[in-house]
Amino acid sequence: MPGIDLNADIKFLPGVGPQRGKLLKEQMNISTLGDLLLYYPYKHIDRSRVYHTYELSGDMPFVQLRGQILSFTVEGVGRKRRLVGHFTDGHEVVDLVWFNGIDYTRRNYREHVDYIVFGKPTFFGGRFNITHPDIDPADSLMLSTMGMQPYYSVPDKVKKRGINSRTLEHLTNNLFGMLKEALPETLSPSIIGRFGLMSRDEAIRAMHYPKSAQQLSQATYRLKFEELFFVQLNILKTTQERQKRVSGYLFSRVGQLFNDFYYHHLPFPLTEAQKRVIREMHGDMKTGRQMNRLLQGDVGSGKTMVALMTILIALDNGFQAVIMAPTEILAEQHLATFQQLLGDMPVRVELLTGTVKGKRRKAVLEGLEAGDVHILVGTHAVIEDNVKFKRLGLAIIDEQHRFGVAQRGKLWSGYDMPPHVLVMTATPIPRTLAMTVYGDLDVSVIDELPPGRKPVKTLHQYDERRNSLYHELRTQIGQGRQAYVVYPLIKESERIDLKNLEDGYEQLRQAFPDLRISKVHGKMKPSEKDEQMRLFASGETQILVATTVIEVGVNVPNASVMIIENADRFGLAQLHQLRGRVGRGADQSYCILVTGYNLGQDTRRRIQIMTETCDGFEIAEEDMKLRGPGDLEGTQQSGIAFELHIANLGKDGQIVQQARDVAKEVLARESVCPAAENTVLWQRLRELNPNPMDWSQIS
Ligand code: ADP
Ligand code: MG
Repeated sequence: MPGIDLNADIKFLPGVGPQRGKLLKEQMNISTLGDLLLYYPYKHIDRSRVYHTYELSGDMPFVQLRGQILSFTVEGVGRKRRLVGHFTDGHEVVDLVWFNGIDYTRRNYREHVDYIVFGKPTFFGGRFNITHPDIDPADSLMLSTMGMQPYYSVPDKVKKRGINSRTLEHLTNNLFGMLKEALPETLSPSIIGRFGLMSRDEAIRAMHYPKSAQQLSQATYRLKFEELFFVQLNILKTTQERQKRVSGYLFSRVGQLFNDFYYHHLPFPLTEAQKRVIREMHGDMKTGRQMNRLLQGDVGSGKTMVALMTILIALDNGFQAVIMAPTEILAEQHLATFQQLLGDMPVRVELLTGTVKGKRRKAVLEGLEAGDVHILVGTHAVIEDNVKFKRLGLAIIDEQHRFGVAQRGKLWSGYDMPPHVLVMTATPIPRTLAMTVYGDLDVSVIDELPPGRKPVKTLHQYDERRNSLYHELRTQIGQGRQAYVVYPLIKESERIDLKNLEDGYEQLRQAFPDLRISKVHGKMKPSEKDEQMRLFASGETQILVATTVIEVGVNVPNASVMIIENADRFGLAQLHQLRGRVGRGADQSYCILVTGYNLGQDTRRRIQIMTETCDGFEIAEEDMKLRGPGDLEGTQQSGIAFELHIANLGKDGQIVQQARDVAKEVLARESVCPAAENTVLWQRLRELNPNPMDWSQIS
């Protein structure tokens, strides 16, 4: 007998038909028989044991009894009105109680018929009660009711049309009954053997109808492993192909400029992490392939220095370099930093932003085309069409999550040979997520802060205690420090937020009439904004009241206090970024999270995490646990080509690592000597991802 076609329309499954088929398709994404198999239950309840009524006790979670209903009575009035079925297994009497659907229930169940009753017993009024029990005729016992019973989540819309978890149970049960052949295996025998994995057939069956909790765990592991393995295999294979195809400039030399800078201009010794990362990048650039690297480093870890030294390698090999920052302030800051660090070295650095106009702009553009400008620092102005380099060899993007893929791509399009690309981010992403989301990029991590940094002391303060807050603020400013006061700005309620900021500003002016206060928010003209920032950066104002426009990259080492108002309205990543604005000098810095008294559990947890750690990676891990990986900032441009059904990048980090290692091995061996047993892997990969990404469009 031929096997069943799992790609067949779900409507052909006995018990479905056209109408239910449509519903399953539209509301639950179950279009084929195969989809139904992959619609896993969200929980199971152990129904392997039938209890006797005399065994019941008040602290049992769920029990199953077998017996008959002796009689029904309707008791109570109004909202207490209820139907009671007096049930017994021949020993004690247990009351089955319904507050809803009284008529329906009364009609549906009969006295003196054998039923299996399932529910949570409570002791009340001298006997055990089970409210709203599940009841099945004892002779209709299914496979499932003998062991672990699956519970499927069903949207309300579908439930209203008469399909519930029980219906799905029947349907999957039918389908498994019809399957005469084992479900095809997708992993190779050696992978299965090495990790002691369950076969795919057994795993999928066990996901629905496990024989034990242990079998269920093994099945879950096998399916998560499979899913993550193919994600990794897909990413690694794509990367490998890109690397084969996209050749890059060969930077064979570390020369005059780099060495001169390293031995004579470094203002401080590099951290070990900075050295390692520079070596990694040089390693890329001397291979003849295009570098495509993500540099992750916590706020203040010294990415700018790494960027400059990488640029010097490009210059030493006769190329130009560009660094693009998300804001004018940041671009100007990079320019100033570079100029100061390079001192009298023969390197020409120029700025290109929206405010560089007229003659100055013309000179910069000409210098770039002639090759006289060695380093260009700027905002997205650097990707305008009329910006032409003589020999662009390296493009760096700072705070990459602020740019879209297309914007980034423009930076290196239109060249015969693409420049090396380095994207830098201070948004820490847990390793396992980075492996997946940025799988197309090589990742370097600066996991060490420069020495002597004191962790920012972080405190939680309630709104009401503003006086003591102001007292602290005055003490700090009295010692010559500066402070940020930040307000949330969220689009939906912009007007209220702006009012909060204005009110806060007024309040501060009244509390500190002797101080000068800057104010910055998104509704201001860029020129006004820049002026206010400049006043603060130069120390002419002592307090900066701002919305999150300051979140990214501003460096004012003298600022030692960060007050975050309505801190409950910020996510962890943002709080961490904001806190990174202080703690940049030698002094002890403070971050004060201000909230009202009324806080949800997640918010309390967020604030607690902030007060306990300054480690961006630890915070990122916690953030992922709280929010799930999908939400993390910067991960929308995800590299995951297919949906995860069962694995969770936040929780299954270990399996991600394992799956990645195996995928790497498979690929490595494949290039030496393709193994016949891996055919099944490539076939599965093509099924999952029939249209691999076209890298020529991106880089
Ligand atoms: P980020 O990684 O957030 O961009 P920056 O590059 O702005 O960090 O560096 C933050 C500060 O740390 C700067 O003032 C920089 O001069 C300083 N810094 C960087 N590297 C070192 C180091 N190895 N030792 C001491 N200070 C350093
Ligand atoms: Mg930076």
